[in-house]
Amino acid sequence: MKYDVIIVGAGPGGIFSAYELVKGNEKLRVAVFEAGHCLEKRHCPIDGEKVKSCVGCSSCSIMSGFGGAGAFSDGKYNITNDFGGTLYEYVGKKEAIDLMKYVDGINMEYGGEGTKMYSTAGTHFKKLCLQNKLNLLDASVRHLGTDVNFIVLQNLYGALKDKVEFYFDTPVERIELTEDGYRVICREQEYDCTKCIVSVGRSGSKWMERVCRELEIPTRSNRVDIGVRVELPAVIFSHLTDELYESKIVYRTEKFEDNVRTFCMNPYGIVVSENTNGIVTVNGHSYEGADKRTENTNFALLVAKHFSEPFKDSNGYGESIARLSNMLGGGVMVQRFGDLVRGRRSNAKRIQKSMVTPTLSATPGDLSLVLPKRILDGIIEMIYALDKIAPGTANDDTLLYGVEVKFYNMEVELDENLECRYKGMYIIGDGSGVTHSLSHASASGVYVARKILDLFQGIQ
Ligand SMILES: Cc1cc2nc3c(=O)[nH]c(=O)nc-3n(C[C@H](O)[C@H](O)[C@H](O)COP(=O)(O)OP(=O)(O)OC[C@H]3O[C@@H](n4cnc5c(N)ncnc54)[C@H](O)[C@@H]3O)c2cc1C
Repeated sequence: MKYDVIIVGAGPGGIFSAYELVKGNEKLRVAVFEAGHCLEKRHCPIDGEKVKSCVGCSSCSIMSGFGGAGAFSDGKYNITNDFGGTLYEYVGKKEAIDLMKYVDGINMEYGGEGTKMYSTAGTHFKKLCLQNKLNLLDASVRHLGTDVNFIVLQNLYGALKDKVEFYFDTPVERIELTEDGYRVICREQEYDCTKCIVSVGRSGSKWMERVCRELEIPTRSNRVDIGVRVELPAVIFSHLTDELYESKIVYRTEKFEDNVRTFCMNPYGIVVSENTNGIVTVNGHSYEGADKRTENTNFALLVAKHFSEPFKDSNGYGESIARLSNMLGGGVMVQRFGDLVRGRRSNAKRIQKSMVTPTLSATPGDLSLVLPKRILDGIIEMIYALDKIAPGTANDDTLLYGVEVKFYNMEVELDENLECRYKGMYIIGDGSGVTHSLSHASASGVYVARKILDLFQGIQ
């Protein structure tokens, strides 16, 4: 079987590559190989009642399948070069923003219309943050919400399914070089193509490492972000979330001069657990529909760690911390802030008496037995700093779930076309280590599709 373009991975990077390719040239033969299920079959068995924690499905429906890791996400598309990836280093700052706006336009066309775009432009919170040693980063954020995000994906699939060949539940095992392109090898069959776009995301990180090793594609180690997810009554943060929805705030700690930052804010949302390669960590969602809202807001507080010499395995370090928390808590652990600062573990009784009702069933425990002192001290400092702009953040009953770890793929050496050392092989999205967000990953897909369309110009 021979295709013009094969895309490995149907996350936002892969979907937007496919979209742009067939929009630009309907004659192109494009195939998408996806390890996970089609959208309708994606279902996480955790229902909070019969199945309370991760059962380790062979293909994790939260991370894999049409829509990628983003399918059940909060659908926050941040339009910014300040965070979410370093795409701008390859394509330029203006082009990166234009691509993200283009993706936003498509999302609006395919079901996102009517959702709100928030912006930090002109907000008085910038000054309030600076007055309290906090830095509010600039961004516009489109909040689709988990429910609308799903509808957009359904519509995009509807638009693509007759123009692109989708192979679901078909993990690509290897990629080989051929005389005029690439051979994509799956368990039962092999497929050839002229151009190959690899967009395997976080869940494909180990696979990506292996492919880079086999094909001798140079890589660099990336950072890992470690911290906790904070859950508190939504009213404490509502002045910020009503205006900005998601505020990315950075705090430089006094003790170690480390940066601690807020990440993935979910007003009126829920805390969820997630399983990456068998390690259970914590994350959050929120919904656009009022009926699914909770009374809580959650967000992560993260500290970045990057190891280089002699120990290079930043992700391995993060994994070990997550494993330790899994060992002590049997999964995700929860602790009241008041218990943490008093140096005692939380127990079921104290959590029950707490004014904040947890939205995730987690094991009460002691995060100080899991997180390194330097990271924990930074988080505690930041909670007190946030308390100045959102009084109540440092209340005893504020819940901290651990651990939240943001793993980043190693950075693949790419040129300005996002092509690796082999011409015609593009590595994009989170799998490349260049992006780590929906907007940047999607934008990288559009970018390489346009590069490929230029090369196929004239094919009718
Ligand atoms: C719970 C959760 C919430 C999130 N919320 C947000 C948010 O609100 N805003 C935001 O910007 N980002 C969010 N993110 C991050 C965002 O989802 C990712 O940055 C984005 O999905 C990356 O897109 P991608 O296409 O690069 O990779 P992915 O979305 O990870 O897609 C990669 C796809 O490749 C497939 N694959 C992997 N290996 C193979 C293989 N060998 N063969 C075939 N297929 C393979 C995988 O199954 C997967 O479907 C969230 C992530 C999670 C898990």
